[in-house]
Amino acid sequence: MTQLLDANSYPNQDEIELYEDGMGYALRMATANGLTFSELARTFASPGHCYIPARASGALALMFGCTPARLQRAFVARYFREGHHTARFLTLEFLRPYHLRQNVPQICPLCIEIYKKAKASWSISIITCCTEHKTQLLDRCGCGRKLSWRRPSIDFCECGSRLASTDQKCQPASWQELEASNQMEFLLGQVRFRLAGSERTLACFDGVTADTFARLVWAFGVVEDDQKRDFPTSSNPISLAQARNNLLNWLAASPRAVRAACDSSTDFRFLLEVAGDARPRNLASTPLDLRPLIDTATYHQAVMRHYRTDNREHHALVDARAYRKGWLAWMAAKNMRSSR
Ligand SMILES: [Zn+2]
Ligand SMILES: [Zn+2]
Repeated sequence: MTQLLDANSYPNQDEIELYEDGMGYALRMATANGLTFSELARTFASPGHCYIPARASGALALMFGCTPARLQRAFVARYFREGHHTARFLTLEFLRPYHLRQNVPQICPLCIEIYKKAKASWSISIITCCTEHKTQLLDRCGCGRKLSWRRPSIDFCECGSRLASTDQKCQPASWQELEASNQMEFLLGQVRFRLAGSERTLACFDGVTADTFARLVWAFGVVEDDQKRDFPTSSNPISLAQARNNLLNWLAASPRAVRAACDSSTDFRFLLEVAGDARPRNLASTPLDLRPLIDTATYHQAVMRHYRTDNREHHALVDARAYRKGWLAWMAAKNMRSSR
């Protein structure tokens, strides 16, 4: 750790851009200095982690020579306030941390090609397209892998494809998502200065905070029409009380010990939030971490096979079924190896 933190070991130093994502900066600077993102994550989090915690920003600034405050604001910092999970990003407060998706990166291949940097605005869930290129952001490489910070570099996927328009298909964005993304970028303010044109449909939201806008879009599904990709559909919502009831009933009818499996600790926090104070007794306190499995061919292929039978990715139940098949395939392969 001390050796890794020695600034003299990193000849390539650079400032973080005001529009740049903190995690993206970490990946960019790691690569520039012959390190892998995994090595950084291992130092600051733990093995198998796909991200770097916000508290590491000071040490990273020291290593790679940027202004600590500029890097700190570009990391999503989660904290607990008045009994609720809250997050801070780009100096703004977000009351619903799931409106931030820094650990589940998305990109604009055209921007990556030009800037070779990840934009901080891509870490906001409501932003689903590039307002500069008017194309949809991608959260997957053409090879089917989910994008991860644990990739070889900002502009390459693990499969060897470039994450640029040469190797990735860019789809035009719908006007709805462009409007919503434009408005959100405007509200972020600090990310990229832009004059607000009065012709914008959503200009009536100019006075609200980024957080309020995110919650409004989420609640009313303003961008829903063409945006089934990244948004859980809000056309048929159930109340939290109803969801809690369903979950508790399901757990009560389940075997004596239930362990949730997920590829993000955020998902487990959601589950606990839904369960409420009445934590079911048969639910294990820690989830099974699927992340180490993601990079294995067995797991990946089984998951992709499932998506070929049902392509509603990001639909909670479809994802759950796909991950289950991935896990079963991985377990079967593991048992086969050990019985040999
Ligand atoms: Zn772009
Ligand atoms: Zn790929």
